[in-house]
Amino acid sequence: MPHDFDLFVIGGGSGGVRCARIAAGHGARVGVAEERFWGGTCVNIGCVPKKLLVMASEYGAGLDDSRGFGWDVAPAKHNWGALIAAKDREIDRLQAIYKRMMDGAGCTVFDARAKLVDAHTISVGGKTVTADRIVIATGGRPTRPDFPGAEHCIISDDAFYLPDLPPRIAILGGGYIAVEFAGIFAGLGAKVDLIFRQPLPLRGFDEDMRTALDESLQAQGINLIREAQIASIDAHKRITLTDGRVIETDLVFAALGRHAYTQDLGLEAAGVLTKKNGAIAVDAESGTSQANIFAIGDVTDRLNLTPVAIAEGHSLAERLYGAGPRKWHLDRVATAVFTSPPIGTVGLTEAQAAAEGPVDIYISRFTPMRHTLSGRARKTTMKLIVDQASQLVVGAHMLGEDAPEIIQGLSIAINAGATKADFDRTVGIHPTAGEEFVTMRTRTRVAGERALAAE
Ligand code: NDP
Repeated sequence: MPHDFDLFVIGGGSGGVRCARIAAGHGARVGVAEERFWGGTCVNIGCVPKKLLVMASEYGAGLDDSRGFGWDVAPAKHNWGALIAAKDREIDRLQAIYKRMMDGAGCTVFDARAKLVDAHTISVGGKTVTADRIVIATGGRPTRPDFPGAEHCIISDDAFYLPDLPPRIAILGGGYIAVEFAGIFAGLGAKVDLIFRQPLPLRGFDEDMRTALDESLQAQGINLIREAQIASIDAHKRITLTDGRVIETDLVFAALGRHAYTQDLGLEAAGVLTKKNGAIAVDAESGTSQANIFAIGDVTDRLNLTPVAIAEGHSLAERLYGAGPRKWHLDRVATAVFTSPPIGTVGLTEAQAAAEGPVDIYISRFTPMRHTLSGRARKTTMKLIVDQASQLVVGAHMLGEDAPEIIQGLSIAINAGATKADFDRTVGIHPTAGEEFVTMRTRTRVAGERALAAE
C-alpha cells in the first residue's frame, strides 16, 4: 500500500518549511507538523525579534549622538510594553505568512506535535500517518542550568515576553545570546551585569574581536564579571559565585547554550541514532542512521544558524525530488553577533589560520566618522588574515557599525578565493568604513609557528 505522504517534515521552522515547500513544488505529497509556532525559533524567539529589540535599544544613544550634530532633543523615556506589543504584531504577521506558505505550496499542515512510531509511521495530533521519507527539523531549545536556585532564572524564550524591563538584570553566559541581550537591556536603560566563566566573552571568536567587544560592552556601561562560576541563586535573585562574591539583581537570565530538541520524538523506535550531546547524527547529505529519515538544522548541531538550516533543507529537497543537490558548503559561512556595535565575521580566526601555517595580519582601529561629532566613545576594529604562501584572504573580522552588512559582501569575495592583491586593487567607496578593508597597506604582524621560527 502506498504511504499517505511521500515526505513528512517534523518541525515548521526555517529549515523544515523550506524543505517542505521545495519538495511540494516538485510534486511530492508533503505533510508538515509544527507543535508550537510556525517559523520556529528564528521568527518567533530568535533572530528576528532579537534584531527588532537591538534596533529599539540603539535609538536612545542615537538621540544622544544627535546633539553633537546640532539637534536639541529632550531626554526621552522608553516604553517597554509598547515595544513588545509592536514586536508581537510583526511576529504574528510573519507567523501567518509562514503558515500560508505551507498551505499555498500544497502541503498538508498539522498544528500538532508529531512523534515517530517507526521508520515510516508518525503519530500526529491524535492521527497515525505514514510516509515514504521523513525529515526531522525540530531545532533546539535553551539549556536550563542545574545549579541550586536555577528555577529563579529566565531563559531566552522568556526574555522576549517580559511584562516590564526590570531596573537591574544579571545575564549568565558569555556567548551570542548573552552579549546580544546585554546590549539590548543596557540600551533600554537597565543596569546589566554579565557573568561569564572565560577571561573574555565570545569564546571561539577571533581574540582581537573578543577584546574589542569586551571594551565596547564596558563602554555601554555593562558590568563584566569574568572568570566567574555560579554557586547558587536565591529566591530574592541574589547570585552567589563560587569565589564567595554576591551579586544582587532583579532578574537573572541564563544564556548558557542550547541543545537539540529530540525529547520524546520516538527516535529509538525509528532507529535514528544521536550523538553524545543528544543531537541527531547525520552524514554530509543530512542522512541519519535510518536510510529513509533525514535531519536538518539545529537538531543536528552542526552550524546552528538559520541560513544553514535553510540551505540544508533546500538542498535535501532538491536532491530527493528535484534536479539534484544545490551547491553550497559550510567552510566559510559568514556570521554576525548583533551587539551594539555588531560583529561580522567570515573565515578563520587568527589562531585557526596560524595553526595551519604562517599568516599576515592586518588590523585597523579607528573612531567612526559619526562619533567624531557625537562625542561617543566608540571604536571600529577591522582585521584581515592572509595566508602567506597563497596570499588568499582566509579571514575577515569586524566590530563596528554595519559590520554584518559589510562582511556579507566580503564573504562572497573570500568564498570566491580573493587574494590580498585583489583587495588592494579594489577602489574603495569614500567616505565609508568598508573602504578600510581595501586600503590596509601595512601589515600589523605575522603569526603562525613556521613564520615566527623563520623570522
Ligand atoms: P553559546 O554556545 O554561544 O554560549 C554559551 C555560553 O554559556 C558560553 O559563554 C559558555 O561558556 C557558557 N556556559 C555554558 N555552560 C556553562 C556552565 N555550565 N557554566 C558556566 N557557563 C557556561 O550559546 P547561546 O545560548 O548564547 O547561543 C546558542 C546558539 O544560538 C549559538 O551557539 C548560535 O549558534 C545561536 N545563536 C546565533 C546568533 C547569531 O547568529 N547572531 C544569536 C543567538 C544565538 P564557555 O564559552 O566557557 O563554554
